[in-house]
Amino acid sequence: MRILVVEDEPAMARLLARGLGEEGHQVELAATAAAASARVDDDWDVIILDWGLPDGDGVLLLGRWRRRGLGTPVLMLTARGQVGERVSGLRSGADDYLVKPFDFEELLARLDSLTRRRPARELRAGRLRLDERGRCARADDHLVELSPRELDVLRLLVERAGDAVSRDDLLAAVWGEAFTGPGNVVDVYVGQVRAKLRQLGDPATITTVRGLGYRLVVP
Ligand code: CA
Repeated sequence: MRILVVEDEPAMARLLARGLGEEGHQVELAATAAAASARVDDDWDVIILDWGLPDGDGVLLLGRWRRRGLGTPVLMLTARGQVGERVSGLRSGADDYLVKPFDFEELLARLDSLTRRRPARELRAGRLRLDERGRCARADDHLVELSPRELDVLRLLVERAGDAVSRDDLLAAVWGEAFTGPGNVVDVYVGQVRAKLRQLGDPATITTVRGLGYRLVVP
C-alpha cells in the first residue's frame, strides 16, 4: 500500500516509516500540516494523521480535506484519549483512531481493516453510475475519470437529479463557503463535466436553468 504518514515527532515518524516499510508498504512522511496538504490526494491507500501538528490541528485539517472531496481512509493518531475528543475526530472524517502509545501490531490490524472496508459507494442516475472510490463515472461499458472537483460537482447533481441546483449550492458544496476565486468557476467545471458525460454517450445531460444554475436530466 502507499501510505502517507503525517507525524511531527521524529521518533514516532521513524518508527512508523520503518515498521510499515518492513511490512512491504511504500511510506512517505510529512511533518507539518502544510507539507501534508501539499501532498494529499486520493492516490494514497491510507493516511495516518497525527492530531497535534506544529502548524495546525489534525482534526481541522482533515475536515478541510474531506470538504475538498478526499475519500482516502484516514487513521487518526492522538495522545489524548478523551472520549469527547475522539467523537469530534471521527465527525471530522477520520475512519478510525489510535491513542498513543499504541502497539504496532494493533496499528497494522487497524490499517488492514480500514483498507478492506473501503466503501463501495456508488450513486446512480439512470444509466449513469458515479464511482466515488474509483473517482470515475461509468455508463454501460464506458468509463471516464474525474478530477476531485469534477466528481464533487457531478455528485451533487446526481444526488439531486431532476432538480435545479443553484450555482451557490454548487459553489458552497464543492469549493466551500469561503471561496474567493473566479466567479465563473462553477460554469467552467460544469462545462468539463458535460464534456465527460458526452464521452460516456450522454447517459444524463446537464441543462442550464436560466438565472439559477443547473439540472441533471436523465432521459
Ligand atoms: Ca504531534
